[in-house]
Amino acid sequence: MNRIKLVHVYRSIVVMFFTLCFGFSAWAGNYRHDKIIVKLKKNISQSNSLKFLGKATTDKQMHLSKSWTKLKMYHFQLHKSQTVEQAIDELRNDPNVLYAEPDYIIQKASVDSASGQKTYEEMMSLSQSEKVYTSEASAQMDFEQIYESVSASSNPTVTVAVIDTGIDIDHPIFVNSDALWRNTGEIAGNGADDDGNGYIDDVYGWNFVDNNGSLYDDDDHGTHVSGVVVSAGIDIFAASMEVSPIKIMALKFLDGNGIGSTSDAINAIYYAVDNGAQVINNSWGGNSYSQALHEAVAYTYTKGVTFVAAAGNASANNDNAPMYPASYDVPHIQSIAATTSSDYLASFSNFGYNSVDIGSPGVFIQSSIDGGGFGYMSGTSMAAPYVSGVSAMMIYYAPSMLGYQIKSLVESSSDYVSPLSGLVHEESRLNPLSSINAAKVANVAASQPGYAVDGGTRAVASEEAGGCGLVTKLQADFNKNNKQGRMTGKSFGKVFLIVVVLSLPFALTLYLRSKDPANRRAYERFQLDSAVTLSVGGKQLKGQVSTISLGGAQVDTQALLENGGIVKMNISSPDGKDLIEVEGHVVWAEDGKSYGVKFAEATSQTLNQISNWTDNLEKAS
Ligand code: CA
Repeated sequence: MNRIKLVHVYRSIVVMFFTLCFGFSAWAGNYRHDKIIVKLKKNISQSNSLKFLGKATTDKQMHLSKSWTKLKMYHFQLHKSQTVEQAIDELRNDPNVLYAEPDYIIQKASVDSASGQKTYEEMMSLSQSEKVYTSEASAQMDFEQIYESVSASSNPTVTVAVIDTGIDIDHPIFVNSDALWRNTGEIAGNGADDDGNGYIDDVYGWNFVDNNGSLYDDDDHGTHVSGVVVSAGIDIFAASMEVSPIKIMALKFLDGNGIGSTSDAINAIYYAVDNGAQVINNSWGGNSYSQALHEAVAYTYTKGVTFVAAAGNASANNDNAPMYPASYDVPHIQSIAATTSSDYLASFSNFGYNSVDIGSPGVFIQSSIDGGGFGYMSGTSMAAPYVSGVSAMMIYYAPSMLGYQIKSLVESSSDYVSPLSGLVHEESRLNPLSSINAAKVANVAASQPGYAVDGGTRAVASEEAGGCGLVTKLQADFNKNNKQGRMTGKSFGKVFLIVVVLSLPFALTLYLRSKDPANRRAYERFQLDSAVTLSVGGKQLKGQVSTISLGGAQVDTQALLENGGIVKMNISSPDGKDLIEVEGHVVWAEDGKSYGVKFAEATSQTLNQISNWTDNLEKAS
């Protein structure tokens, strides 16, 4: 365990600033001060609905921004004389109204801006080993076989909706691989809604921020996430690219600061489902429960769509502080934590034994950014699209599988990794090849349990409802001993069957790995007095390392480090003859001169080196 220390007072101002810019927590309960979402009761007649609308727009002078007519749901802009609180209080007393809620603000789920940027040409000039840094960040994830298998097949493509900050539609990786979804019913630039879906010139998707078909990305986030999704099917760094089996439907609802509103997220979700997306990637979230958003996610479930959500980046336990949409109790949601290359939970990642499903790589992930180049980003935002991409590839080979079944198979095919023990429900990390191979041979009955929205979140409901409840969890449960209780899923009644053959040698390997003594001593700290060079935002700083473990180091330096910030460290060995390079996040600070850095990115080689050093070091008190 890392020691927890009090952060110096003036430093907490820096932390607060960082939280406001990059964290989720600051947005808890934050909402648009001029908008509300209202849903009328199901049995209200058409004439009463119209009467209600007439009253709202004339008496209350509210402006109708959007109606979801079939759902009897409306998005209003309030007259400037009225507050959201007043409007909601009044509407809740209206006998026609089922619910009225604020239009909550939600945010992207990455922790940083793109770093280490390269142009497309620079990327292409790198050697193969330098290019595949992404797979290094994904440790045990083997994409080569997946790529080979794709190039030999000609199945129908799979559409993944990326609900995000937009996309650079001219980026070479999307152009060269033909990876963009196209609305075949729409004629570009004729100013008409050719396919009658309610959106004019929605050729590649829709921009819900500006209400048009222009899909620029003023943040990089959506372009990066989309590149990660596509990378599950083809090598996005290859000089000569295959045709992508995955098509990206870009739906922009987050602005240039990565901020958007619940109403636009809802619009994007309905658009995605109604225009044929089979997978929806959601690298965003917020802390406020919205029934309207919950119902939109439930709609994706009834339509068999796969729904993947980032667990969030507040280092928080989602069991106690739910993050939406990841934490809704809809049975098909895949809630994804971020892991390091060595399968530890990333320091920023949210977790939750009852509410987060698996881990997936999310630290220093290299992918496409706006303007045609590449860069590294970290976050559960980067972890989720690996799962979305892999889910899409499973559908590529097993088109009839429902989102609920995809989730089941992703989980049962994931790799047990001991550092995730107790932190995520499957205690495992995504295994792309195993998941796709399992889908290729799965026998699937096309049915799923019924589901009704009743305000449940998985943190609260999972023990009762068997929340992520499923099927064949043999591999994961093998290592779980006494924890299977909640997985019976009895309240879901009859469950369909997926036949997965359990490989005994594989399970045995997992079992032996879980017994590895190296895992148990992971956080024992040792005294060290070694020089360290810190790289922070392109600057080189000097310091001393006073203690070290396999999980992190205490660094003493006169330089100011920001809590939560990413630092690259070159640490000298005790004898000064050797050097390790390791990356991490600042997790505590004391008196502006001593910092705790938790390793976020350590190769197994590095961990071995540290392990060798500590053989001759004294334990820290
Ligand atoms: Ca249209």
